[in-house]
Amino acid sequence: AKDKGGGEHCRFEPALHATAEERRRLEASLRTAIHGEEFVLHYQPVVDARKETIVSFEALVRWNSPEHGFVSPGKFIPLAEDTRLIVPIGKWVLEQACLEARKWPEHVKVNVNVSPEQLLEPDFHQDVIKAMAASGLRPERLEVEVTESIFVRDAATARNSLEKIMALGCSVALDDFGTGYSSLGYLRTLRFSTIKVDRTFVQGAAQNSNESLAIINAVVAMAKSLNMTTTAEGVETAEEAELIREMGCDKIQGFYFGRPMISDEARRLFKRHPYE
Ligand code: C2E
Ligand code: CA
Ligand code: CA
Ligand code: CA
Repeated sequence: AKDKGGGEHCRFEPALHATAEERRRLEASLRTAIHGEEFVLHYQPVVDARKETIVSFEALVRWNSPEHGFVSPGKFIPLAEDTRLIVPIGKWVLEQACLEARKWPEHVKVNVNVSPEQLLEPDFHQDVIKAMAASGLRPERLEVEVTESIFVRDAATARNSLEKIMALGCSVALDDFGTGYSSLGYLRTLRFSTIKVDRTFVQGAAQNSNESLAIINAVVAMAKSLNMTTTAEGVETAEEAELIREMGCDKIQGFYFGRPMISDEARRLFKRHPYE
């Protein structure tokens, strides 16, 4: 019979191994995924809080791997960032999203998530220029989404990169606001067009958390005085939509108005409703 201590030790190791092995296998698959055309973009509507019309769609990448099945972005994006594979993947996302947005009504924007690794590439703005040229999309219709984490690694380069994109006419949204390593300093000098209030605050507010309500109120007031708009993320019910509207958020995104959907479905929304 095995001795207890050894047995406990052994029981733990295979699990650790499986994680490292799983990660290695995922990474190997991720390297070939882009050529295998295994990525697809889904689009989630962002609506005007008062008029309830679609003002934009956020492009959200999906990975359907022959080996691993459906892998959620929450799992593979961090891996893609660690391995820098996010640079080619992100370039593909940007190009695809712009091509798709070209088929929507002129007033509808497209929001594209950009990782720090992409933004800190010296010629990121060239990727934006190329995506505009290839799609024929007006730069005013592209809103890039970045998180506060871009300011942690190399604030000067991040700022420089964002200013170049803004100079092209694109807008920039600050994503997941309030969840990161907030330093409000950059809000003074960078002209973000939108602050996206993280879902955790929206859920908190809906559950009558005074802290969440206070934070949303503060963000909305701050955005207004800085001439920026706010988008509330993760709005799932009519009650939440109403609460968020009353709090003065400009835009709403969440399952209540629409889940991320395939491009055909997103396009059909314009035919069904008089959104134009
Ligand atoms: P995110 O940018 O904060 O995107 C919003 C996430 O919230 C999406 O998850 C969306 O499906 C989910 N969501 C939207 N409305 C609701 C709601 O009402 N309730 C709940 N529970 N969730 C909602 P998703 O698509 O799984 O993406 C997760 C994260 O992966 C994104 O968070 C973003 O950080 C990252 N990501 C996705 N696509 C890309 C991409 O193309 N490039 C980069 N760099 N990151 C991406
Ligand atoms: Ca986002
Ligand atoms: Ca977000
Ligand atoms: Ca998020």
